[in-house]
Amino acid sequence: MSGPLLPGATIGVLGSGQLGRMLALAARRMGYRVHVYSPERDSPAGRVADHEWSAPYEDLDAARGFARGVDVVTLEFENIPAETVEEISALAPVRPGLRALRTTQNRLREKEFLRGAGFPVTPFRAVPDRASLDAAIEEIGVPAVLKTAGFGYDGKGQTRISAPEDADAAWNALGGEAVLEAWVDFEAELSVVAARGLDGSFEHYGAVRNTHSQHILDLTVAPAGVPPEVEEEAVEIAAGVFEELGIVGTACVEFFLAGGGGLLVNEIAPRPHNSGHWTIEGAATSQFEQQLRAVCGLPLGSTHRPEPAAMANLLGDLWTNGEPDWPAALAMPRVSLHLYGKREPRPGRKMGHLTVRAPTPEKAAQRASSARESLHRNGKLTAET
Ligand code: AMP
Repeated sequence: MSGPLLPGATIGVLGSGQLGRMLALAARRMGYRVHVYSPERDSPAGRVADHEWSAPYEDLDAARGFARGVDVVTLEFENIPAETVEEISALAPVRPGLRALRTTQNRLREKEFLRGAGFPVTPFRAVPDRASLDAAIEEIGVPAVLKTAGFGYDGKGQTRISAPEDADAAWNALGGEAVLEAWVDFEAELSVVAARGLDGSFEHYGAVRNTHSQHILDLTVAPAGVPPEVEEEAVEIAAGVFEELGIVGTACVEFFLAGGGGLLVNEIAPRPHNSGHWTIEGAATSQFEQQLRAVCGLPLGSTHRPEPAAMANLLGDLWTNGEPDWPAALAMPRVSLHLYGKREPRPGRKMGHLTVRAPTPEKAAQRASSARESLHRNGKLTAET
């Protein structure tokens, strides 16, 4: 190896949404150049990058051109075709690499990897076709969730099965290779965001508590406030996953904390994660700077969190009655606003987030929620939120 990539080097980012934008901002602050690649034009990341490539992920010529212009490639979006990643890998190091991407691109492969490596995972069955769904329901029981095996995030591509008679409707709603998962009556949803360096070093931000609304992350509170042994186990599992997949960069392992206190891995994201956004103001080194440090072969930074923090997502629904009341939220102490520069505020679309720091996790959560509520003009909450 020829040593770390120093400021002045060019970072290539596959994907150009808000995660790429926050990574690009961290990288540019530290003197790196950033090229982003996605099919979009004038994207959230493209607007703060040095160069924006707008081409389909399948366009191998464009992908090669992108790879030739950068010193290392990382990603903010994992559903990049394997062939494209292979082509790029021949020209520039891709971190994390193909093994982590291939495993996490497909729910079935991800779950089989987790089970095979001995990590706790929600009981599941592969459902390659309609014929195998009935047997899977019989084995897993109801309620259960049928999820597409391929591309799917934020609860897209999943449907709940409450009784065996729901099988037809569920299959028709998804159509295609799927996974049937047992329904987990969880006590809480947790995640561990962490980073692994090129030298195998590992730094984590502890376990945080996530609440979802309509399958989309709504609020993250750090720390999660779970017993220390639960947090230790979550971090140990996350470290094991990073090691097994050879991840270099920032990634996230999401968990269900089941009724009896047991942890089950729900999902792995091989990139910075929404539940790590609070680290920008809430930790000594943000998850984005950590990603940059890791992929450049630099030492990882401290993840020290001086006090609790909470993050509230801002979805497009907030714009229902016009522009949100930004001054109202910003008048509240210790509120930080992040907007991703997306022009069209569609319902359910992640437009930005708020971060709040406070002396206790409860206060942080409460202040983040009230700061978000203050954004509703005339104090009126809309049905969607
Ligand atoms: P996913 O896209 O798989 O992360 O699912 C999105 C959200 O749906 C999760 O964060 C949970 O809130 C819920 N969910 C998914 N799978 C299950 C399950 N097996 N049991 C209970 N809730 C689930």
